[in-house]
Amino acid sequence: MPDLLSVPPTHLQLSREQVLWLTEQIAQHPGEEVCGLIAGRGATAARFIAIPNRSQTPQTHFQMDENKLFQALKSIDDAQETLLATYHTHPKPHSASRPSQADIVTLGRDWPHTLHVIAVHKQRDLHLKAWHIAPDEVISVPITVDSALSPPVIQERLSSAQQVAIILATILSVALVVIIAITLLPPPPDLTLPLR
Ligand SMILES: [Zn+2]
Repeated sequence: MPDLLSVPPTHLQLSREQVLWLTEQIAQHPGEEVCGLIAGRGATAARFIAIPNRSQTPQTHFQMDENKLFQALKSIDDAQETLLATYHTHPKPHSASRPSQADIVTLGRDWPHTLHVIAVHKQRDLHLKAWHIAPDEVISVPITVDSALSPPVIQERLSSAQQVAIILATILSVALVVIIAITLLPPPPDLTLPLR
């Protein structure tokens, strides 16, 4: 067994390439949960290891292939890495990236010392969340991507129309602030009055 942390990391550092790789994995298994392990050092993920989902109901559950799981754990050990997290996806429309009741029971029981990343792909956005499932509570753990604090939604590049809209909105809001500032100014002194 690879090193197990007594306490899971308080955050998880992923790279943009790993997030894109996970997006491709999801695209290759439409409608099914994909799963695997995240290995690394400290809080930084070195690699994602895909493991086939052997669940009889892969649309709503995952069960990692036992042989592949064993191989993955051995390779993490051989590389002197730490098992940081499990990952899986929730493919159903309107899914949430929080653990299901089944996740809380099985992940909390089988993997108490790792984090659990849950990904939901909605249209063109990948929602990623990491969780620590403790015996009495489920705690959200922040994910950073490429050393920038990741938003809960990782958006694809904006289209040029969206960029123009954002620039226009910024200009308009600046103009509005200037107008408000001018209207709030006190009236100018009446310089026509004779000075005493
Ligand atoms: Zn789940």
